[in-house]
Amino acid sequence: MTGKSDIGPILRVALPAPVRRLFDYRSPGTDSAGTAPPCPGGIEPGTRVWVPFGRRRLVGVVMETAIRTELSEEKLKAVVAPLDGQPIFDPAMLALLTWAAGYYHHPPGEVLSAALPKALRLGAPLEAMQERWQITPAGSEAWAQGEPRRAPRQRQLLAELAAQETTAGDRRGRGAWREAARALQARGWIVSVQVPLAPAPVIAADPAALPRIRIEGPELNVEQRQATERICQSLDTFGAFVLQGITGSGKTEVYLRVTERVLALGRSALVLVPEIGLTPQLVERFRERFRVGMAVLHSALTDQERLAAWRDAFSGQARIVLGTRSAVFAPLPKLGAIIVDEEHDASFKQHEGGFRYSARDLALVRARRAEVPVVLGSATPAIETLYNLESGRYARLRLTRRAVRATPPRIALIDLRASAHHSGLSAPAVQAMQRHLGAGGQVLVFLNRRGYAPTLLCTACGWVAPCTDCDARLTVHLAAQRLRCHHCGADSQLPARCPQCGFAVKPVGQGTERIEETLAAMFPGLPSVRLDRDVVRHRGDMEAAMRRIASGEGRILIGTQMVTKGHDFPNVTLVVVLNADQGLFSADFRAPERLAQTIVQVAGRAGRGERPGEVLIQTEFPAHPLLTGLLSEGYEGFARTALKERREASWPPFSRLAAVRDSAATAEAALTFLAEARALAGHLQGVRLLGPVPAAMARRAGRHHAQLLVESADRSRLHRFLDAWLPQVESLPSARRVRWALDVDPIELF
Ligand code: ADP
Ligand code: ZN
Ligand code: ZN
Repeated sequence: MTGKSDIGPILRVALPAPVRRLFDYRSPGTDSAGTAPPCPGGIEPGTRVWVPFGRRRLVGVVMETAIRTELSEEKLKAVVAPLDGQPIFDPAMLALLTWAAGYYHHPPGEVLSAALPKALRLGAPLEAMQERWQITPAGSEAWAQGEPRRAPRQRQLLAELAAQETTAGDRRGRGAWREAARALQARGWIVSVQVPLAPAPVIAADPAALPRIRIEGPELNVEQRQATERICQSLDTFGAFVLQGITGSGKTEVYLRVTERVLALGRSALVLVPEIGLTPQLVERFRERFRVGMAVLHSALTDQERLAAWRDAFSGQARIVLGTRSAVFAPLPKLGAIIVDEEHDASFKQHEGGFRYSARDLALVRARRAEVPVVLGSATPAIETLYNLESGRYARLRLTRRAVRATPPRIALIDLRASAHHSGLSAPAVQAMQRHLGAGGQVLVFLNRRGYAPTLLCTACGWVAPCTDCDARLTVHLAAQRLRCHHCGADSQLPARCPQCGFAVKPVGQGTERIEETLAAMFPGLPSVRLDRDVVRHRGDMEAAMRRIASGEGRILIGTQMVTKGHDFPNVTLVVVLNADQGLFSADFRAPERLAQTIVQVAGRAGRGERPGEVLIQTEFPAHPLLTGLLSEGYEGFARTALKERREASWPPFSRLAAVRDSAATAEAALTFLAEARALAGHLQGVRLLGPVPAAMARRAGRHHAQLLVESADRSRLHRFLDAWLPQVESLPSARRVRWALDVDPIELF
């Protein structure tokens, strides 16, 4: 036997370092001679450990164990100690994280950053601890002798502690009590201890407990029942289901029923929703239905809130975890099903920072590892998802009827070239608005551009207000009297005159703020409600707006993308899409898909109440095949055409893509690095490199952006290539002069 095998298993640890590999350590309590006994029982994979790293101590996670290491015995250091008595990740989660690090070619330690709240990465305990006060023998003695005599609050606290063992430190966390406790502590009469919060309730698998854990829902219609049954037949095995149905067709009700069955089996459910779809209404529907703990995870949580929600999930206290993108990594001790609502939504893909993962795709991987079903819900499934349906990898479940009412809205195009228009509103659109408002309906006007106007123009010299840091114009925000860049956030005073010639300037084009003004002049006395990021800025703003709409006080709704998801506008009878044309002619092959999804989603807002709906789409290209296809055959007709086009152009899903994106102080530096990276590729087999090219908006926030695409018809070829190529790219000297990142399966191409 060699010395090496005596030192116990090698622990392979993921550390917060930008290196695409694990770090080897010995088990704690072993020395290089192998004389000390190894850690009793060993440290299981998934456990957090303190390790020496250079001169620092870091928290890492043991990802796997090995019997061999490349390190010499002198170099191989020992783990200092485990942080917890149990793994923080179960084997299925570990497998998911390892898979993700490999697939996205990202440092495993940085993958953990996405998966763990910051506090846990820094060493916070796994369980929530609570500060409690405990009386000391000296304290009991003093109490028996009538102390403390003059401080009534200290007296009361000591009395309580003499009568019962401990008292929560934060129970009366206000200043005066804390002060009293400090005083008693200083005299050695009490001590403060940290104890774990109440343990998680035992999860019992007991279908008979159902009435106790949920309120009964409405009776399902036939399609909902069939969908629920199909999914629930697969509760003990992996299955991917696409639940396809327009808004209001009862998808959420199916999610609730699947969750109910999962809970009844003593398991828990993970529900992922898009950033914008995590509405109080949705959270409320789950809360109303179930009497079990629920954790809600989203990007607006503070570190402490995130930690608390994570711990609730980890301990099993929360049986339902509802969250946005990163919730795909939430710990659930007995995962029973994963639901991804609005699976086509772009916010499931992390498109910034280093670790650019798709939560939707990871949900599928996770469900497969955990052998549970995954439900992908959408009215407008992603083209990739439709392709997976076609090829039989996913099963389709349709909800074709609206749960509440049946008539789908009538959709028509308005040719902007043929009809008079004023401030972005065509005559037919205005007439339709008059008709619907006159009949007591509400009207929704959709424009995906916030602010007053996208351009500020000098009519004398032609000057246009530019962003100094981006290849973009500044947007006029009239009410705020600001000029803002929607790409870098630059913000300045709105000038009254042209800085170049001193002549008057004027806003050109339409934003939601200006449409609101125009409509107020056109329909005096009919109040409007605007929904965009400028007016909905704080928690509660959305609810306030929704109340004004629901009460009927607001008759005209004007909104951006924000109105396309999640909300019910039952009295909206007319939807006007002001400009459909942005998505028709884009360099990004996904732009038409997004446009079609938006139109269908916005159209879905109309006529959900008792009245039939009407949808008008203004365009300068009424003969565009995408629009006519969408109108005559709906989203699936569009999708058929889109799939055909992608097959011909061999875009995903008919090929696999990875984008190397970079930015630098100069356009030349940005392109040089990518050109050198390309040159490293050498002889290619089944992989194509496209570029480098400057990004469509090359300069953003003062930096120049460029991209190089890697494409292959074969996924494993692509990944083998990346595995071999990336380490070389990393060691290029020019790599240090740029900021660069790899984006596997990019969903936006610039
Ligand atoms: P989606 O998630 O597809 O938008 P929901 O599940 O939210 O649809 O259903 C739309 C509305 O119809 C909700 O108010 C819901 O409570 C109601 N609903 C859903 N299913 C039924 C049903 N089977 N019977 C009665 N009402 C239902
Ligand atoms: Zn001028
Ligand atoms: Zn800018």
